[in-house]
Amino acid sequence: MDSDTVTGETRRLAAVLAAQREAAASEVVPDLASRRTDLARLKAAIRAHRNDFVAVAREDFGRRPAEDTLILDIGPVVQGINHMHRHLGAWMRPERVPVPHTLWPGRAHIHRQPLGVVGIMAPWNYPFGLSLLPLATALAAGNRAMLKPSELAPASSRLLADLLADTFEATQVAVVEGGVETGTVFAGLPFDHLFFTGSTEVGRKVMRAAAENLVPVTLELGGKSPVLLARDADFAKAARDIAFGKVANAGQTCIAPDYVLVHEDDTKDFIARLKPEMARAAKIAGRRGGPAGIISARHAERLASLQEEARIGGAVVIETGEEGNVTPTIIIGLRPQMRLTREEIFGPLLPVVTYATMEEAIARIGSGPRPLALYLYTANRDLKGRVLRDTLSGNVTLNGVMTHYAVESLPFGGVGASGIGAYHGRAGFEAMSHAKGVFEEPRRSLIPFGRPGGRFVKLFARYMMR
Ligand code: NAD
Repeated sequence: MDSDTVTGETRRLAAVLAAQREAAASEVVPDLASRRTDLARLKAAIRAHRNDFVAVAREDFGRRPAEDTLILDIGPVVQGINHMHRHLGAWMRPERVPVPHTLWPGRAHIHRQPLGVVGIMAPWNYPFGLSLLPLATALAAGNRAMLKPSELAPASSRLLADLLADTFEATQVAVVEGGVETGTVFAGLPFDHLFFTGSTEVGRKVMRAAAENLVPVTLELGGKSPVLLARDADFAKAARDIAFGKVANAGQTCIAPDYVLVHEDDTKDFIARLKPEMARAAKIAGRRGGPAGIISARHAERLASLQEEARIGGAVVIETGEEGNVTPTIIIGLRPQMRLTREEIFGPLLPVVTYATMEEAIARIGSGPRPLALYLYTANRDLKGRVLRDTLSGNVTLNGVMTHYAVESLPFGGVGASGIGAYHGRAGFEAMSHAKGVFEEPRRSLIPFGRPGGRFVKLFARYMMR
């Protein structure tokens, strides 16, 4: 875009935001009933379009099994809406909190109120879920929202724009389609909150732009999520789960297992189980019109070059199936300087990394940027406790992969380079609300006596220093 177009784009988006603000100022703050109606309308629109989601996702990914779209992409949105619909009343009620004795019998409450207009920026990998769940959360918290879906899934973005335009007034929900330039303009708008899902690299730019307007951010970013297999791990289950994690959506999942840490004496055994599971998962997906394609030729080339670099560097590359434009592949013998060791993979390549001691495995996890998710397979309680204590990551699933995402009552988010803030359920409601502290002074209390110049000021001073 040249500078005239950028100015035009800025003006266009600023006008949408201004219209939303104006509406917010002139209309009453949505109460529980109207927020529930909004959630119900969104859910009804999603349900009515379920086949369209499957079809347009196929267009964007080239191939994508219906299940990847229904169960992993839009299913969690409907579940999330149900959860919010059920609990919203309790979350919205002012929350009474204790007061210090000196202020007794005053009362203190936290009131949660809408922030105003939330900007939502979404990635392409789950183009519906990662747009609509943040949107539902913004509406549950009583906000208006502008959504910018990803240009890499244009058919999905189009469907979202049409569906949301049919469901909501543009002064409540507006979709802005466009690429990086539009994203840059979008991130620079003076929202009341900016909710970004995408890469760490772009997240950094978005946060910088938001800082210009002091816009608070939630950043849902990526990273390398390890699977740690203890020696007592159920290898059969782990192999099946990991194969699912790498084949579902062709491994293009933010919380997909990125690599596996296996004890050096178990490696052979584990790989012997993993190989057929990877092939099986790909074959099953293949029968259902998948596995999902890699989103673009550029992304497929990137994955191929990661694999090629490892091969040239002496790693062993085991391809496990024919399906897919990048085949599910196991890679053994990575070196520290290889890109597969350093970069988030985001595709169906699975490095298997060996460790000699648990200390070494934990230290390896701690030596990189904080992962978005961590998976541990063990039946040993002490070891679970130890790994939970000694590693810092986003969420954890024990003896499984990715399932924590579906637990709406868990805050979902990263830490460090994998993100800032969290959402899902109550955590999302709170992230998109202002927590206003309200204290009401009682008619009679000790408060006037304890102020500077008051009768009991010495007593108070002593009491407060106690
Ligand atoms: P991305 O960061 O390239 O794009 C995300 C959004 O930002 C898109 O809407 C894009 O148009 C926009 N954008 C791109 N460049 C921009 C710029 N310079 N300024 C402003 N906006 C810009 O991410 P992606 O490739 O779409 O998604 C993959 C990444 O997202 C992976 O790293 C993955 O781990 C992460 N991710 C995280 C989560 C999570 O919940 N934490 C979920 C899905 C994906």
